[in-house]
Amino acid sequence: MRRPLVAGNWKMNGTRSSVAELTRDLVRQVLPGSVDVAVFPSLIHLDMAMHALASGSISVGAQNCAEESGQGALTGEVSGGQLAEFGCRWVLVGHSERRLVMGESDAVVSRKFATVLASGMSPVLCLGETLEQRRSGKTLEVVLGQLCRIIEDHGVAVFANAVIAYEPVWAIGTGLTATPGQAQEVHAAIRGYLANEDAAVAEIARLLYGGSVKAENAAELFAMADIDGGLIGGASLKADEFGAICRAA
Ligand code: 13P
Repeated sequence: MRRPLVAGNWKMNGTRSSVAELTRDLVRQVLPGSVDVAVFPSLIHLDMAMHALASGSISVGAQNCAEESGQGALTGEVSGGQLAEFGCRWVLVGHSERRLVMGESDAVVSRKFATVLASGMSPVLCLGETLEQRRSGKTLEVVLGQLCRIIEDHGVAVFANAVIAYEPVWAIGTGLTATPGQAQEVHAAIRGYLANEDAAVAEIARLLYGGSVKAENAAELFAMADIDGGLIGGASLKADEFGAICRAA
């Protein structure tokens, strides 16, 4: 009943020529009509990707946006309003690389989340624990704490539109995928937390898993009851593999 979403986060990768090649090959992939597919290129490649993908069903999102939705004096930033007007449908918010490397706090993530919604796009809210937090038994406390901040600030109904991506930091780019059981445990806790607030919203909210998803492990992850698709990093840079992951959803 929940429509799966497979999203490719290209991160800080790509050149004009590699993006031209990747998008050309993505258009040739046979994608299931029952799955939503999106890609998140670098800002400088958004235009190219949108044009190249316009003939198909793959939508395009941004990896980040400013906390503001309008226009104005904020050198180097791109606002939610600008991204929406440009044709973006989604924006990643709270990716661990931004939380941990760029120092984005829960407060910043919450303001960006609001801006994306106010601009008419859907935020993909990333949540996840570090290896140290997992080892000290704090996984659910950390992940639900990140979620709680968004619900406190914006209510739970936003998750009728916003997507949640659980991405354990220790599984990102490491080749160490969470087992389907480990991922499902956290996804079930996230859905349970949403259900405590609003059962109907919990039922329709899409929860993606991210962290070393590959063609070989996608099907077993996506088969879990509370996993509604994936947020794919490295494997989304290869059209054939990304296509196979989409077909597994
Ligand atoms: P990898 O698939 O490369 O582990 O990256 C996951 C991720 O961070 C997607 O946002």
